[in-house]
Amino acid sequence: MCDDEVVQHAHDEARRFSRRTALAVTGGAAVAGAVFAGTSRAGAAPGLPRRVVDLTHTLTPDFPLWRGSAPVVAVPTSQIGPGDSGFATRWMSFSEHSGTHVDAPAHKIGSGITVDRIPPGDLVAPLAVISIAGRARSPRDLLTERDIAAYEQRHGRIPQRALVALHTGWQPRTGGVQAPAFAPSAVTMLVAERGVVGIGTDTLSIDRYGDVGAHTAILGAGRYAVEALANLAAVPAAGATVMVGAPKFAGGTGGPARVLAVLVGGVF
Ligand SMILES: [Zn+2]
Repeated sequence: MCDDEVVQHAHDEARRFSRRTALAVTGGAAVAGAVFAGTSRAGAAPGLPRRVVDLTHTLTPDFPLWRGSAPVVAVPTSQIGPGDSGFATRWMSFSEHSGTHVDAPAHKIGSGITVDRIPPGDLVAPLAVISIAGRARSPRDLLTERDIAAYEQRHGRIPQRALVALHTGWQPRTGGVQAPAFAPSAVTMLVAERGVVGIGTDTLSIDRYGDVGAHTAILGAGRYAVEALANLAAVPAAGATVMVGAPKFAGGTGGPARVLAVLVGGVF
């Protein structure tokens, strides 16, 4: 469906719901909210401080999307009545590739697994954050094998089965679709020589605009990607554990995900 058809469909659905529930629907009601820092201290065993950093952007209708993506639409379908009677619900419509989201292998590879079939053991992983924020001035800049070598010299070898996140410092609202990304050869190296379970980025795409090589390298290896991560500057380069709350949409090519970094131990 093109954007107009999607919006029309969303509004048709909203009308259908509103008739059923006799609600006045304002049409495309927005989810209020802004990007939040999302850092909190959770309860932990004595002597074992734990901090959780939210690597997820709040999904709003105005969050930047890839060109041609269906819009994010949220419509109230029932409301809480007097005395807190009833329940509040909303109907939502969005592309699987909206906000902070997972790309499953099926997003690029015809025979690739869909998002519901990503092994749960791959969704909890050591987090390695490689930053090129200091030098990423152009949307054509790439993370290369040289950046991986520099990272490992400082922080040690990337552990097996890690999620490697690229911190460009650009963010979706600053770069849009034009932003620094992974060099495909660096992704191939991370898969073949470091056995990563996935890669992530703080921009809208793991590939430079117009390229597809990073997608092909990671998704072609049966691994996944996470795009539009938040707060990568708030986690250590090494030592955190990431939990990727990928949705279990049957047959999904990906989907919005809650991504959390868990930091355990006195060093954080
Ligand atoms: Zn995607």
